[in-house]
Amino acid sequence: MGPLTGKVAVVTGASRGLGRSIAFELASSGAQVAVNYNTSAEPAMEVARCISSDGSRAVTVQADVSREEDVRRMVDEVVQEFGGVDILVNNAGINRDRTLRKMTSAEWHEVMRTNLDSVFYCTQAVVPHMSQRGGGVVVNMSSIIGRMGNVGQANYAASKAGMIGFTKAAARELARDNIRVVAVCPGFVETDMLAGVPEQARERLLTQVPLGRFGKPGDVARLVRFLCSEAGWMTGAILDLNGGHYIPS
Ligand code: NAP
Repeated sequence: MGPLTGKVAVVTGASRGLGRSIAFELASSGAQVAVNYNTSAEPAMEVARCISSDGSRAVTVQADVSREEDVRRMVDEVVQEFGGVDILVNNAGINRDRTLRKMTSAEWHEVMRTNLDSVFYCTQAVVPHMSQRGGGVVVNMSSIIGRMGNVGQANYAASKAGMIGFTKAAARELARDNIRVVAVCPGFVETDMLAGVPEQARERLLTQVPLGRFGKPGDVARLVRFLCSEAGWMTGAILDLNGGHYIPS
């Protein structure tokens, strides 16, 4: 038993990294979890197996969240399995880094479709189900890069800043249905995504983090759990957690 007992959570991109940790954290508070993945079937099944062996219910659901028809099918499958949706964590994301001069339109669109179009598709698909259950929570995984920009990441920064605008608009619009919408902006966290950054660049980055360490997936997952279970009067908020790397005025 926990504060999320009886709740159903959909976590996109939960086969590894932040999504995996968020799936575990929500399950440990009692939620039943739909573990979405695109290509990593076996790691996603392992996440679901771990959750089930700890006593919560979990299923895996394949969907490329950049495709509207996949998202509709995913939400239908989750509703059929669990009877509804209470929590959506829009976590799936990619980067295709290249300086602006060299970035191809394919790299631009792939990132926008995966990181931003997906947020529209997933949120729109769950709203009727949340509304039917008297409310819900949508947590959007933005990024420090959407707050401060970065060389070589115009596509990624635009997608993550777009999520912030989406969060604010959706929070206003969906409040009447008791659906809260918030965004989390992590700094650099130790996942496969950070592992793709060259060692020298990582060392340079670390010098810019006052707390002197990169984040761990659990740092982010615990905040997401709090947002889903304790933060009942919070909506439209944009939350930075980055070891002090970016402190807005
Ligand atoms: P990661 O380790 O690369 O994992 C990405 C996850 O997204 C995987 O589960 C992947 O599933 C899934 N995914 C990718 N494209 C997908 C698609 N089209 N449809 C469905 N799932 C898809 O990334 P991460 O570091 O955990 O990042 C998670 C989120 O946090 C991202 O939105 C990222 O932008 C954001 N973020 C990360 C950091 C960081 O430092 N790590 C910082 C700030 C924000 P498959 O393997 O099945 O494709």
